[in-house]
Amino acid sequence: MVTFENVQKKYPDGTLAVESMNLEVQKGELVVLIGPSGCGKTTSLKMINRLEESTGGKISINGEDIRSLNPVKLRRGIGYVIQERGLMPHQTVAENIATVPHLLGWKKDRIEKRVDELLEMAGLPKDKYKYRLPSQMSGGQQQRIGVLRALAADPDVVLMDEPFGALDPISRDSLQNELIDIHKKLQKTIIFVTHDINEAIKLADRIVLMRDGKIEQVGSPEELLENP
Ligand code: ADP
Ligand code: ADP
Repeated sequence: MVTFENVQKKYPDGTLAVESMNLEVQKGELVVLIGPSGCGKTTSLKMINRLEESTGGKISINGEDIRSLNPVKLRRGIGYVIQERGLMPHQTVAENIATVPHLLGWKKDRIEKRVDELLEMAGLPKDKYKYRLPSQMSGGQQQRIGVLRALAADPDVVLMDEPFGALDPISRDSLQNELIDIHKKLQKTIIFVTHDINEAIKLADRIVLMRDGKIEQVGSPEELLENP
């Protein structure tokens, strides 16, 4: 589903952030990229939605080279959640969730229905939250809205970059559990970046261990715990 073939990223200043990266993420799989700060996790993720362009090798989604796709269209088809600054501060919860459906030209009724459905799925009563601004919600609620926004247009692939990293332990735990439920229910292909090994073990179908821009080890949480 998402394939890296010998992918490289060299930034203009000469930093080699990712080197000879080979990885095949299956449809419906939740893969966690883990490794120390600066090892290339975020760069790997951003190459998939072309927020950064790879400088070597090939990335494909469903067999299609992403360079052959229009980057704007590509980004609308991929959910993206980051740690912070994710939501538009002057837009309501409903508007934030509807960002991509709106860009895709969905009809008003369809958008409204979808927003309500997603809020319900996340246990956020729509009457209470729909017209709030992000600043009127807790950090955990804002991240939940970020996840709903990424899911709104029903993308096949969702990229998550330390989405729960800034949360207190209790909110983090509950959002992790929600993500596990969502993943079971919707069978999305999810690529999730963290530097927290416990988070990786809890969430991952497969863990990809990165170091210095390279993949060091790949395996299920059980396999990696047996052969650390
Ligand atoms: P991680 O997500 O694992 O912390 P990153 O992918 O953010 O790692 O960074 C990988 C390497 O690329 C680091 O050495 C980082 O300093 C460098 N890097 C990231 N972004 C840029 C950039 N825009 N220009 C130059 N170097 C960068
Ligand atoms: P930075 O790396 O400096 O945080 P980015 O270039 O990754 O900035 O993105 C800037 C902002 O645009 C971020 O707040 C991010 O949430 C948003 N953004 C970029 N691309 C997307 C996307 N495909 N879907 C949702 N939000 C996006």
